Amino acid sequence: MPKLPTLNLTPKVIIFTLIIFIIPFLSITIFWSMILNLKTYPESHLQQLILQILALFLINFGLVLALFIWILKSLIQPIKIIRLGVEHISSGHYDYRIPTITNDDIGKTATAINTMAATLYDLIVKSEHNKNVILTERNKLALAISSISEGIITLDNNLNITLFNKAAEYLTGYSQAEVLGKRLGTLVHFSQGQIEIPESEYCSKDPGGFTSSSYEKKALKLVGRSGKESTINLLSKQIKQSGSDLGYIISIQDVSKESQLEAMKLDFVSMAAHELRTPLTSIKGYLAVYRQENEAKFTSEQKMFLDRISIATQQLSALVENILSVAKIERGAFSLSTQAVNWQDIVKQTVGDFTLRAKSKRISLTFTDPIFEIPKLNLDKIRATEVLSNILANSINYTDVGGSVNVWMELKDNFVITHVKDTGIGLTPDQVQHLFSKFYRVLGKLEGTMKGNGLGLYITKSIVELHKGKIWVESAGLGKGSTFSFSFPLPQPEPVVKYNF
Ligand code: ADP
Repeated sequence: MPKLPTLNLTPKVIIFTLIIFIIPFLSITIFWSMILNLKTYPESHLQQLILQILALFLINFGLVLALFIWILKSLIQPIKIIRLGVEHISSGHYDYRIPTITNDDIGKTATAINTMAATLYDLIVKSEHNKNVILTERNKLALAISSISEGIITLDNNLNITLFNKAAEYLTGYSQAEVLGKRLGTLVHFSQGQIEIPESEYCSKDPGGFTSSSYEKKALKLVGRSGKESTINLLSKQIKQSGSDLGYIISIQDVSKESQLEAMKLDFVSMAAHELRTPLTSIKGYLAVYRQENEAKFTSEQKMFLDRISIATQQLSALVENILSVAKIERGAFSLSTQAVNWQDIVKQTVGDFTLRAKSKRISLTFTDPIFEIPKLNLDKIRATEVLSNILANSINYTDVGGSVNVWMELKDNFVITHVKDTGIGLTPDQVQHLFSKFYRVLGKLEGTMKGNGLGLYITKSIVELHKGKIWVESAGLGKGSTFSFSFPLPQPEPVVKYNF
């Protein structure tokens, strides 16, 4: 920055303004007196006088001009100082201050610019500091994300990849450099069983646009580069800030080893169950024949023993069948063979099948016929009946003598909902939460002689979900009965095919 003169304007301006006014005033007075005396001047002195007036005029004019230029310069110089100072500050020298001495308007302007420069300087120092803090934190976060054992992928609003950590690289076989800015869905595929999950499902938008949508699915198949497969748990969450969408964060947990171990356990359990099935069938068969042939010879005590053997065999047989079903469900091998069926008739029939069992406990079992016609549904008849049978058996089992069980149907939102309401032992909210989990049994009072194994509702739920339906339970609390409800979808109308001729 060139060395700039200081501003010291006010006294000079006052002095020279005075001079500017005094000189012309004096000159005009002299001229005027001369002109007034012109007539009294002798002819011979007239020419000399005119020359004197002219000379005085020229001297005056020169003096005024010189003073005018000087004043102009004195005014422009401080403005130039300010301009140069402002240019110097705006070129990045925020610590530079414009020299000011006077307290006039120009001096005050310079002071204001200096104050502004000082504030700017403070802000810049602060923001530089904040930037460093943010950068350090960002580096720490990036380090943490890259060393996390779960795959972390972030996407922008267009579903293009913006971050891809080391674990994600390992899981998918792609490097971060290769995938940045590309669409995740074109590189990595997630599927459940045979069904591929579209990007729009795991990166969905909240319809209202107010909350962040999230998606969570366990035991999915991930197919990466060159068909590299892994079993993963997927969690995807929409990122929002102050109401605007920023993209998605996807976390992928590799559970391949656990699922392999689980598969081995399942293989072992289903093999053992299969091996148990054959001797059990023999035991049941021979027991039935033995009882039939010797019924008359048995004492009441022997009959009681045989009853107990028969119940235990049935229990064991039910457990074996349930274990085989669970193994199939877990492997994704539990398939349905659907056809159009009259669900209303099936419900009526199944309720009828349970009448005797209900009567033995003096439970009133009723079916309320719907007042509307239920369309035919696409169901696996055997599996769908198993759903209702499981729920009905439980309702009768977990309802005290003299209670009631009512079954009715409802048509709602393209679903047929079947409700089974009992006046039984009821459920606490905590029990309701775990009811459909594998091997979950509520400890306590068990009605009847049949002991359960905690697999019935798990299988029931799987069957309903395979039909694309839902199952839920409501209870007002212990001792207040429960209502089990499940829905099956109405058949979708065939898409209309248009031909253009
Ligand atoms: P289980 O073979 O033990 O009946 P389920 O999976 O069918 O297995 O049921 C799990 C548990 O849910 C049961 O042990 C029972 O405690 C509870 N439960 C099922 N149905 C009812 C019901 N209608 N009322 C009260 N509790 C029930």
